[in-house]
Amino acid sequence: MGLSDVVRGLLSGEDPASDAESDAAAGTVVYECRNCGTTVGPDATECPNCDSTAIVEYPIE
Ligand SMILES: [Zn+2]
Repeated sequence: MGLSDVVRGLLSGEDPASDAESDAAAGTVVYECRNCGTTVGPDATECPNCDSTAIVEYPIE
């Protein structure tokens, strides 16, 4: 692999990392505790901070 291969890769505009990032941004959902506002994971059923089960979803478009 020479320098010409690297340049060709840069000029092609192919960047798997940025593609994945844009896909995630399009369908991002934030899960947050309604009681204390702590951001929790998508699988969380209760808040790790205050044990509340009031988890709300905020879809970000
Ligand atoms: Zn909480």
